[in-house]
Amino acid sequence: MKKVLFAALAATLLCGCGGDKSNTIKMITEATFPPYEFMRGHEIVGIDVEICRAIAAKLGKDFKCETVDFDSVIPAVVSGKADLAAAGITVTEDRKKNVDFSIPYVKTGIVIIYKKSDPCTTGEACKGKRVGVQAGTTSETYVLEQLGQEPERSRSPAESVAALKAGRVDVVIADIDPAKNCVKGTDDLAISDFITSEEYAIAIRKGQPELLAVVNETIAEAKADGRLAKWVEQYTAEADKLKD
Ligand code: GLN
Repeated sequence: MKKVLFAALAATLLCGCGGDKSNTIKMITEATFPPYEFMRGHEIVGIDVEICRAIAAKLGKDFKCETVDFDSVIPAVVSGKADLAAAGITVTEDRKKNVDFSIPYVKTGIVIIYKKSDPCTTGEACKGKRVGVQAGTTSETYVLEQLGQEPERSRSPAESVAALKAGRVDVVIADIDPAKNCVKGTDDLAISDFITSEEYAIAIRKGQPELLAVVNETIAEAKADGRLAKWVEQYTAEADKLKD
């Protein structure tokens, strides 16, 4: 047993560090969040995918992307199953206890999706209503902590909006971009102004300063040379078209 442990330790030391063995950078996401990540047929595409692909290219490594439920995204980098978590992830103090965040790449927030026949445009007005949210998100935290009530959880913003249309919830709270995408093409739904102010960043396992530096450099370069703006434009247009 001791021998096996020693061999494992030696192998780890020889290759520099535990996480650097593979020649592939694995991104973990939750692909129901257009335009940041969504399915184009069987392929996961979106703004976050492009950022992570650029990080892998900068590291000279291959790139792979997988989708899981949103509440499994951060655990996947904590356990080392993936290198980069990018899923429109809002930087929060709570999450900072478990992962390191890159510099932010978007300023955004959550909004209320309501039926025009039953307008609900402030958090206060949602109190006591059945509020649909995607599980594990800042929208869920908002309902629990700001409204002091239990939300109706789903696996995606689109699933919550389907529940709203079917009358199983009264309103939905979600991030603005997927909310806009869900409301597009409907006559009876509308969205409120922001009810929070949030920033998205990429999350990685703690204690990897070299990887964090490359992630930050890649984001800074993509912002400065216009690639980020181009991806936002391209994938917003593509996600909108999928709705038509
Ligand atoms: N930005 C929200 C959060 O981090 C929602 C992200 C998502 O559903 N992909 O909780």
